[in-house]
Amino acid sequence: MNTKYGLVFIIVFLLMCLSVSMSFINYFISLESTQKQLQHRSLPLTTDNIYTEIQKHVIEPNLVASMMAEDTFLKEWLIHREENDKSIKNYLEAIKNKYGMLTAFLASQKTQNYYTAKGFVEQMKEDNPTNKWYYRFKESPLKNEINLDYNEHIDNSMIMFINHKIFDNNYHTIGATGVGFKISYINEMLKKFRLEYSFKVYFINDKGELILFERDFNKIKNINESKELHAQKDKIINKEGGVLQIYKDAEKYLINVKYIKELDLYLIVEAQVSTFTAEVKRIFYINLLLSLLVTLIVTLIILKTISIYNKKLEYMASYDTLTNLPNRRSFNIDFKNSFLLKNRQENDLSLLFFDIDNFKNINDKFGHQVGDEVLKRFSQIIKLNVRQTDLVSRWGGEEFIIAFIDSSLQDSQLIAEKLRTSIEKDKILRELAGGHSITASFGLIRVLKQDTIDSAMQRVDNAMYQAKEEGKNRVVIL
Ligand code: GH3
Ligand code: MG
Ligand code: MG
Repeated sequence: MNTKYGLVFIIVFLLMCLSVSMSFINYFISLESTQKQLQHRSLPLTTDNIYTEIQKHVIEPNLVASMMAEDTFLKEWLIHREENDKSIKNYLEAIKNKYGMLTAFLASQKTQNYYTAKGFVEQMKEDNPTNKWYYRFKESPLKNEINLDYNEHIDNSMIMFINHKIFDNNYHTIGATGVGFKISYINEMLKKFRLEYSFKVYFINDKGELILFERDFNKIKNINESKELHAQKDKIINKEGGVLQIYKDAEKYLINVKYIKELDLYLIVEAQVSTFTAEVKRIFYINLLLSLLVTLIVTLIILKTISIYNKKLEYMASYDTLTNLPNRRSFNIDFKNSFLLKNRQENDLSLLFFDIDNFKNINDKFGHQVGDEVLKRFSQIIKLNVRQTDLVSRWGGEEFIIAFIDSSLQDSQLIAEKLRTSIEKDKILRELAGGHSITASFGLIRVLKQDTIDSAMQRVDNAMYQAKEEGKNRVVIL
């Protein structure tokens, strides 16, 4: 029993090791390839996509603003005339309409006047918050800048202003011009990349300030506010670009940086690795579960097969396969128990030992197969004539034994006689023996107090032999 389950345990353990290690190997390979795919394909591709998208939307307005700043008419007008705002109104209106801008503007350093396609709008004041951009831009070393603002004048939407300084021939700033256009598409685009591809996209300037970002999803205004980003600032604010790895709150992130010359901004595409490996993890758990399930099923099949073969083996060890009667080994065990019980409780116990008469002749005359059929039918008749509690066995060859439990010698004799006549008169046996009766000789004894198993066996054997000697087909009681 123990070896059997020991072997099953080893098989199950090996199967489990195999399936679990296969799942793990699979998992690590998939994890690795997902990260590689993310790092070498998805991230750079997305970055390029965004860049192209931005280029499409920003380059044209930037070129328009740059062209305006270089426009000789504009410069001339600022330097010399500036009094007839009708012509500048027409100029700005033409630009606005031609390029589909939300606004085209001009700010004069000399008069501090601010013009749009509507003509003169206001005179700028340093303390007016709406005009602050001009004074800041004028002081900055940059020739142009991109400014993001909410325009309260129009519809409170996010506007991208592209401002270019206008210089006179001596490189003195004489004003600023440019265009403004709605950039709701950027927010839409950033949102799309977040929702569809799980990428966080934002743009920073060379100070690390976030310039373009999804307002609701960025908590920081400068990458310096994030310890982890700050630590890699030199690599992030780097015109070479590339993919970086950072760890935030025990989570691994891959960050792709691309410098966008046109905007003088760095495009950052951030991917939280676990979001992309979640599916791999899910498949790993399913794999693991399936392999454990298969192991469990295989274990159950092994146990069931062992149990079936075990039962077969047990049956074969205890029963005679030809007649399906218990064999001598099994009888000895059961009889020993009954014998001990009899001694303790003083029950009646009798033994009937019998042997088919002239069985050799049947074999010789009709063949072994008919001999076997006779033995089978003979056993059927025995089964029909005994109680379930009695012990019946094919003792060997054509010899049988019955132990009548708790049955008086008289009762046992009656059964023996009944059995003898049933055999003698059985039509099937007669047919098998070519029309002649088949008979058997019986020895019957009552197991006595002083009997041992061996002595009882000896006595019943003697009784059977006496029956043979007295002419067969009879019951002899000793
Ligand atoms: P007796 O009346 O004195 O008992 O004579 P017998 O011929 O029955 O006795 P014997 O011991 O000479 O012959 C028994 C025969 O039973 C010999 C053996 O070939 C045959 N036998 C034993 N087991 C089987 C079996 O399983 N199948 C068949 N067909 N024959 C068997
Ligand atoms: Mg015999
Ligand atoms: Mg015989």
